[in-house]
Amino acid sequence: MATPPFDAIIIGAGSVGNPTAYFLAREGLRTLVLDELSASGQGQNKAAIGGVRATHSDPTKITLCRQSLEIFSEWKASTGTDIGWKKGGYCFPAFTDKVEATLKGLLATQKKFHLNIDWLDAEALKKVVPGINENGLLGGTYSPDDGQVSPLLAAESSTREAIRLGAEYRYRAPVESLVMKGNTVVGVRTDREEFRATTVINTSGVNASGICRMAGLDVPILPDSHEGGISAPVKQFLDPLVVDLRPGPEGKTINFYFGQDANGQIIFCYTPKVPISGTNRNSTYEFMPIVAARLVEVIPRLKNLMIRRVWRGLYPMTPDGSPIVGKAPSVEGFVLGVGMCGQGFMLGPGVGKNLASLVARGAPSIDREVFDLLSPARDLYAGKKEALK
Ligand SMILES: Cc1cc2nc3c(=O)[nH]c(=O)nc-3n(C[C@H](O)[C@H](O)[C@H](O)COP(=O)(O)OP(=O)(O)OC[C@H]3O[C@@H](n4cnc5c(N)ncnc54)[C@H](O)[C@@H]3O)c2cc1C
Repeated sequence: MATPPFDAIIIGAGSVGNPTAYFLAREGLRTLVLDELSASGQGQNKAAIGGVRATHSDPTKITLCRQSLEIFSEWKASTGTDIGWKKGGYCFPAFTDKVEATLKGLLATQKKFHLNIDWLDAEALKKVVPGINENGLLGGTYSPDDGQVSPLLAAESSTREAIRLGAEYRYRAPVESLVMKGNTVVGVRTDREEFRATTVINTSGVNASGICRMAGLDVPILPDSHEGGISAPVKQFLDPLVVDLRPGPEGKTINFYFGQDANGQIIFCYTPKVPISGTNRNSTYEFMPIVAARLVEVIPRLKNLMIRRVWRGLYPMTPDGSPIVGKAPSVEGFVLGVGMCGQGFMLGPGVGKNLASLVARGAPSIDREVFDLLSPARDLYAGKKEALK
């Protein structure tokens, strides 16, 4: 017997798909989530280091990440599940005049949005980042309301909560085509089954272009790879995630960021100077030596840290560096939550809440004008990349 139609089918149980399922189920919609992998959060979600901040320079990201922060920070109280939330803030130290000028320039915009962020002088900053290298330290920005979450715990918990509210999940269910009726998406076909729904939501991360193509849409999302790593736990000493905006002396990095998670582990990443396009996820030989030098440069006493593992994951990149969120242009019944670039984990709950509201009530939960800045119908090649990645 054929499965009765769902209200919504979500393709991808990742950083965006799981919170979307949770909020759709909360709206009372009959929701199905399909993922080609064997569990939730096993795509790029688990590659994230879990940084969550509202202190961006783009109004939509600020608004959506504010919602994410609210959801993450209240998650334990509302569900009883610990997802590793740590409200330690973000700190951007300045060691050069150029970085100081950039950070102070952004402060004006961030203040306009009433973000809790301020410039600290070097003395105050040393208290926020104990053990920071004082050599050349000019001060920096600190936003105490930002924080960190465990991406794996968040994926697991949001899935469990979505299921508790009635959502269904199928794993090892790769979507191979969309069922179309004219220019309306009416369902999906996996390698084994066909499912029908009023709305199909594409949250398939780095595969999102391929899924869009199945509906005849050209939505450019290209993967580029980034490496991360984590140490063995050490005694808690560091509250914020620290972002060093200096290019590395090795000439291969444009920044470096790290923090200490709720378990005491130091977790770290950098942005390569030359983007590494493609889907190769093998760790490189150069990542760890570069990271080790940068970490010890910022906090010299971390020189004896024991590293546990490294990994390489993919950012689903868009031409203008901003996500693509909303109803697909010229195709009915198809909604996109794609192109999250390097911030899909922190955007996930905010995007999910808005997509659920869009599908269930016909409007996002944030101001329409702000939401529409991420519209799939925008000119993806016209936009300016955000100042702080
Ligand atoms: C090293 C590193 C560090 C990062 N740190 C952070 C951070 O601190 N904060 C932050 O916000 N972001 C961070 N990110 C970025 C973040 O990981 C991504 O932006 C985010 O996970 C993308 O979310 P998504 O839901 O679009 O994709 P995913 O989480 O990958 O979810 C997509 C899902 O779709 C499934 N799928 C794909 N194709 C199909 C198909 N045909 N059928 C069925 N299922 C399908 C996949 O299996 C996957 O589970 C980091 C990334 C890396 C690599």
